[in-house]
Amino acid sequence: DADLAAVDPEVAEAVAAELNRQQSTLEMIASENFAPASVLEAQGSVLTNKYAEGYPGRRYYGGCEHVDVIETLAIERAKALFGAEHANVQPHSGAQANAAAMTALLEPGDTILGLDLAHGGHLTHGMKINFSGRLYNVVAYHVDRETGRIDMAEVERLATEHKPKLIIAGWSAYPRQLDFAEFRRIADSVGAKLMVDMAHFAGLVAAGLHPNPVPYADVVTTTTHKTLGGPRGGIILSKQEYAKKINSAVFPGQQGGPLEHVIAAKAVALKIAASEEFRERQQRVLEGAKILAERLSASDCASAGVRVLTGGTDVHLVLVDLVNSELDGKQAEDRLHDIGITVNRNAVPFDPRPPMVTSGLRIGTPALATRGFGAEDFTEVADIIARALQPNADSAVLEDLRSRVAVLAKKHPLYANKN
Ligand code: PLP
Repeated sequence: DADLAAVDPEVAEAVAAELNRQQSTLEMIASENFAPASVLEAQGSVLTNKYAEGYPGRRYYGGCEHVDVIETLAIERAKALFGAEHANVQPHSGAQANAAAMTALLEPGDTILGLDLAHGGHLTHGMKINFSGRLYNVVAYHVDRETGRIDMAEVERLATEHKPKLIIAGWSAYPRQLDFAEFRRIADSVGAKLMVDMAHFAGLVAAGLHPNPVPYADVVTTTTHKTLGGPRGGIILSKQEYAKKINSAVFPGQQGGPLEHVIAAKAVALKIAASEEFRERQQRVLEGAKILAERLSASDCASAGVRVLTGGTDVHLVLVDLVNSELDGKQAEDRLHDIGITVNRNAVPFDPRPPMVTSGLRIGTPALATRGFGAEDFTEVADIIARALQPNADSAVLEDLRSRVAVLAKKHPLYANKN
């Protein structure tokens, strides 16, 4: 069998270039991570050949005896890791996990209450042209203008006024923990179900470094590729009473054949996520984010109009507010890219600039922690970013920062055995 380079040199070359990009730059996109070689191996396995519509023990295809073993391992590990009564590991992505969970809990036209996209929510929490905004009647809650924290009084007021069938707690860009007990109380007070989308912070939950939403929520969805560090994909956890509805909403409701190669990779990632080594890594994730938030709050940053939203972080990311900076989000993202640091621009709440420009940055530490970064390295990264965001960072300064980035990348090799 000819290998990729022989069959398709164009694709092989682009893959090699991407490997080099990941190795030589500092990845700080908060939703990204580096899957370990064992996860990549499972995902690149012959399981990709197998059709397995249905669930372990109840398949619509023959020859499923081995994928049944694998999917059962993934299910049992997900349940054990998060203390859930039921797990469905088949969603192809976080968006599909949310689509299936909402299909299970709602009828089209029902009202949902979720965090506004512009305030840190996800597309699937009710954005207008997303399935969630098209199928359901969306009411959005927000963060408080002063504190930057979710306005729980507004959540309660909107819940009381609109009587949603479902309240969604969870975020894509928010630097603090959520009060799950309070969300539960509000949901109960209006007879709503509670869904928590822990896509971003699932790895922290697995490590016991963030409150676990599972005891509070009817349904919890997650991706497996962010802080959790596994393959791209989704998982739905729920109380047993929703198990049948969730399963049939995933298959045949939303999807056909499950990606058993990805499910195998999820199983491996879930095993790793239960380890002490994983916990230690998540501690460095949090420590790195705190170091970053502190450095970006220093006086040189303040005088450059750089501000940390909510004044700090409890999770794996920092939201930088550039409303008063000379740089907008796009310029700041480009400048960091130019010195070898990858982040994404992000709208800040009440952003005066348009969504393609924005006035903010979202900077995350999970990928660098996976690479082995500790407090000293994060201190250096934070200083590099703080200096790059100064308005007077000229080409000589940027050249110097580029070489400091290169030193860090070299210090923590990534995928050393790959080529
Ligand atoms: N939920 C949240 C909170 C997210 O941040 C994301 C991805 O950014 C998703 C769901 C969707 O995941 P995916 O990109 O796998 O569809």
